[in-house]
Amino acid sequence: MATEKSDFATRVVRWQAQHGRNNLPWQNTRDPYRVWLSEIMLQQTQVVTVKSYFKRFLERCPDVASLAAASQDEVLGLWSGLGYYSRARNLHRCAQQVMECHGGVFPRDAATLATLPGIGPSTAAAIASLCFSERVAILDANVKRVVARVCGFDGDVSVAANTRVLWELATALLPARDRALKEMARYTQGMMDLGAMVCTPKDPKCSQCPVQQDCVACKSADPQRFPVRSRRVKRSSASVWLLWAKSPCGAVWLTKRPASGIWAGLHCLPVFDSEADLRQSLPPDLVDRVQCEAAFVHVLTHKDLHLHPCRIEASSELQFGLGRWVAAEDWIGLGLPAPVRKLLER
Ligand code: SF4
Repeated sequence: MATEKSDFATRVVRWQAQHGRNNLPWQNTRDPYRVWLSEIMLQQTQVVTVKSYFKRFLERCPDVASLAAASQDEVLGLWSGLGYYSRARNLHRCAQQVMECHGGVFPRDAATLATLPGIGPSTAAAIASLCFSERVAILDANVKRVVARVCGFDGDVSVAANTRVLWELATALLPARDRALKEMARYTQGMMDLGAMVCTPKDPKCSQCPVQQDCVACKSADPQRFPVRSRRVKRSSASVWLLWAKSPCGAVWLTKRPASGIWAGLHCLPVFDSEADLRQSLPPDLVDRVQCEAAFVHVLTHKDLHLHPCRIEASSELQFGLGRWVAAEDWIGLGLPAPVRKLLER
């Protein structure tokens, strides 16, 4: 690199103060509960979506004690629509562990934070640096991209050993020890903002970037070449059939999913592997009343899920296996898989 690494950090810090994001609802606080909650919500979810969920979540669970005391159903209900529900289950378990093992106080260092459910090394570093100014590097997908480009790191980042090298490079770029207390929070936010706003996966805005002069990828004229990721996870697809039973007064029949597997622990329409299985589950006089609607695709991280809704109007006297009739005003607050919620909202 052309300049000292302390200059790199200083430029990130200055840029963040002037151009970064400084008024998000989870900023301007050093409360680890709020920072942790936002970090978990922001994994896989856009800022604009997280804003309303964050507010609603805090109204019901303003601190770690209230979250730990809430039921899992309630937590899943608050999360409903955000998807990737393992985050909500871990969030709940983590709150309980903070209460039981840490006296209701979040640990202050990244190493201890990373022992809690759902907190990986990068999230732990984000909480420790944003709240307690610990001098530790984060390495989420955005920051991985910035570091790989700045350092011109051309190792395959899908290989674990190379990710370790990237952590070392990220650590070497941190503010100097004597400035960490003052600069770490803003530096961490600055790296996140750079990755989200300037050093984007496609068409990075190098001319607006505060670290352009250090950046190997920029000088190579093809910054998008970094980070190198040769091993792509293969996409797969699966199909499921959903029994959408509705009573004359608008209630739907919902069942609770098993504790593991797809949509674990959520409330859901009954799920079948085939239309034949679905029809077979019904009393004989109802089989001909099933109306199969057009299938639609729900895109998961590594899988396309083809959903086949099969509607049936049925008396609320009837039962469809394990489950219960749930009135429209009640299922809205339940933890439902995102595509099922969309379907019911039609
Ligand atoms: Fe990314 Fe361009 Fe900045 Fe390099 S100069 S870090 S490629 S935006």
